[in-house]
Amino acid sequence: MVFVLDCNKKPLAPCHEARTRKLLSRKKAAVYLRYPFTIILKREVEDDIAPCTLKLDPGSRHTGVAILQNDRVLFLGQIDHKTTIVDDLKKRSAYRRRRRTKNCRYRAARFLNRKKPEGWFPPSVMSALNNSVVIVRRLKKICPIGLIEYELVKFDTQKLINPDIKGTEYQNGPLHRTNMRNFLRIAHNNTCQYCHGASKDTKMEWEHMMPRSRGGSDALGNATWSCHSCNDEKGSRTPREWAAAIKQKKRQTKLDKARLEGIDNLKKQNYSTALADAAKVNAIRWKLKEMLEQETKLTVKVSSAYHTKTNRMKYGLSKDHCVDAACVGKDALPALHFRTTECLVITARGRGKHCRTNVDKNGFPVGKPYPRRKNFFGYQSGDMVAANVPKGTKQGKYVGCAACRSTGSFDIKTANGRISGINHKYIKPIHRLDGYGYTTKEISPYWFETENKTASSPCLKAGASAV
Ligand SMILES: [Zn+2]
Repeated sequence: MVFVLDCNKKPLAPCHEARTRKLLSRKKAAVYLRYPFTIILKREVEDDIAPCTLKLDPGSRHTGVAILQNDRVLFLGQIDHKTTIVDDLKKRSAYRRRRRTKNCRYRAARFLNRKKPEGWFPPSVMSALNNSVVIVRRLKKICPIGLIEYELVKFDTQKLINPDIKGTEYQNGPLHRTNMRNFLRIAHNNTCQYCHGASKDTKMEWEHMMPRSRGGSDALGNATWSCHSCNDEKGSRTPREWAAAIKQKKRQTKLDKARLEGIDNLKKQNYSTALADAAKVNAIRWKLKEMLEQETKLTVKVSSAYHTKTNRMKYGLSKDHCVDAACVGKDALPALHFRTTECLVITARGRGKHCRTNVDKNGFPVGKPYPRRKNFFGYQSGDMVAANVPKGTKQGKYVGCAACRSTGSFDIKTANGRISGINHKYIKPIHRLDGYGYTTKEISPYWFETENKTASSPCLKAGASAV
């Protein structure tokens, strides 16, 4: 389906591709936006438009988006959030620390007297929230959205660690009336978990599997019990790195073999440490509602993950971020009708970086990333462009993302590779850089259309009746 605006940029109900082609070929409309594809009519429409519902399924890495009009699914999308923010900020903080302490360039000393404002969220969480709000705002401009609904996710992080937890165990936890050292000593029977006593060392210690020096936490999932000699020998390596180093030795002693076996057993313990994603999603629960209401001035409804899942089973749909989004909501419909099976994948990219100098792996400066100017001949790197080169070795038509140069000779990243040395005068803009990258993917919403169907699946009956 294609989004439609009238000549006053009033959003109208999305229309079918075939109708769009007719309107465009008869010059009754023009292309307004490439991603998501939107046309603008050359006349005014005064009729009342039936409002659509926008549904979101927020996640830590991906957020599903769907636009529905009653039981018809008109648009499917998926926002891919940035995943590098934490690492990037850690890097930046390290560079700044160096500039404060080394005698190379002045950066004022920072005192730890700063407070985080109330309602502060970590940058990675804020970025995911902002992405969702920005996309909703942009969709609201091209589609008559009257209601927003999203899934209020809540992960039980304790249950992720211990699936059998119940009752008072929630309040107590494994370290109730004990401390970490005591707990580990008893849990591991006071034996070294690496060598199992082969080193004959009796001095026992609390061991961090991912070392503290490398960001390992004091959480139970990262702790084990070891003798001093093993702990010392392992140093600031992870068990896996240590095992690799032992395996490279020409001659392995009895102790080495015992340690290899111990490390192998440690891997089987399978402590869940992937709680960061769950914590991130839990953190944004209510904040998203607040931000969406403030931004769009629309009613924002929430529903639980339970409703999404039961709806999905009832409609007989396969699992995908955007399909999940279409299933969000308490008011279940008898069935969903997909008017589109194309999902627009919106990847958060940003608009360049603040960094003025590239650095090598040790933090030493190696050249400048790009000149301070971003615009050249009316284009900037990241713009989607179409080129039509009439003559020369580069003759042909190309569509892709431009990399701009002050010389006027641009590169175009197309689906079939990079074409360099295209003169700016042969180029036309398609979609200006807006902080997001766009691709599409085809989805098959009904689960029995997908390959991995099994006759015993509980939603077979529900799925068959839904279509
Ligand atoms: Zn040991």
